[in-house]
Amino acid sequence: MVFSLIIPCYNEEKNIKPMHDEIEKTFCSCDFEYEMVFVNDGSYDGTAKEIKNLIKTSSSKILFLDFSRNFGKESAIFAGLEHCHGDFAVIIDGDLQQPPEVALKMLKILMDNPDTDCVTAYQEKRIEGSFTGFLKKTFYKLINKMTEVNFVSDASDFRVMRRNMINAILSMKEGVRFSKGIFAWTGFHTKFIPYTARKRNAGETKWTMSSLFKYAFDGIVSFSTRLLKIPIWLSIMSFIASVSYLIVRLTQGHFSETSLVIFLILLMSSVVLFALSIVSVYLSKTYTESKHRPIYVLRDKDNN
Ligand code: UDP
Ligand code: MG
Repeated sequence: MVFSLIIPCYNEEKNIKPMHDEIEKTFCSCDFEYEMVFVNDGSYDGTAKEIKNLIKTSSSKILFLDFSRNFGKESAIFAGLEHCHGDFAVIIDGDLQQPPEVALKMLKILMDNPDTDCVTAYQEKRIEGSFTGFLKKTFYKLINKMTEVNFVSDASDFRVMRRNMINAILSMKEGVRFSKGIFAWTGFHTKFIPYTARKRNAGETKWTMSSLFKYAFDGIVSFSTRLLKIPIWLSIMSFIASVSYLIVRLTQGHFSETSLVIFLILLMSSVVLFALSIVSVYLSKTYTESKHRPIYVLRDKDNN
C-alpha cells in the first residue's frame, strides 16, 4: 500500500523542511510506503531550492512538481493527484496548519472502514476573524441553495481519499476548478472528523478579501447556472409591471401619450428580456455540457 501526501506550496521556503521533518516523524514507523508530493506553485522565494535539497538528503520518497508560474492551489492539487502513486492520498497545506498526525488518523479510519471512500477534516473552531467566518458561513448557505451538490460548511481540502475517488476527481477536467465542489460532486461515502488548525509556521496566508470573493464567485458559477435564470424573472416582473401600470392608468382615466410610452417601454423590456431568457436556457445547457463531466461515477464494480 502506498500513501501520497500532496503538498501545494507557494512561497513556503521556511516551511518546507519543518513540514518534511514532521511528516517523516509521523509516518516513519508505519508499515506502509509513503511519498511526499511537493507541488511548487510558481514560488518566487527559495521554495524550489528547499525541496531540491530535500530530494538530495531525505530518506523518504519525494516527488517534486515545479510549475512554470503560479497557477493557483486548485491546479497544484490537480497536478499532485495526477502524478501521485498512492492507493490513498491526502491533500495537506505546506504551512503546518494542518497536522500530519491528523492525516494519519484519517488514513487509519479509511483503512478500518472499507465502506468509506474519503475522510475529511473540518475545523472545530475557526481561527480566522469573526467577519471572515460570517462571510464563509453565508457563502455556504448561498451555494447550498443554488446548487444540487451538498457543500458541508467548514469542510476543508484537508482530506484522505481512496484511489477510486482520486480517479473520479481526475476525470473532471474543467479548467476553473473549485475542489470543494468537485469533491462533493463525485459523491463518494465521506466521513467528517473535527480538527484544530494550528497557526501558520512561517510566512503569510495567500488569501486576500478580493481573492476570497473571486474564489466564492467562481465556486457558485462552476456549480450553478441559476444566475442565468435572472432574465426570466426580470422579464416576468417587467411584464407584470407593464400590465399593472396599464390597468391603474385606465381605471384612473389618465391614459396620456406619456402613459402609452411608459407602458410600451415596460412591455418591450419584458419582450427583450424574454428573448434573452431563451438564449440563457441554451447557454446554461451549453455551459454545463462544455465541462464534459462524467455521466456517472462508479464506486465499485464486482461480478462472480
Ligand atoms: N497555495 C498554493 N498556491 C497559491 C496559494 C496557496 O499552492 O496560489 C498553497 C500554500 O502554499 C499553502 C496552501 O496552498 O500550502 C494554503 O494556502 P494558505 O495558507 O495561504 O491558505 P489559508 O491556510 O490561509 O486558507
Ligand atoms: Mg494556511
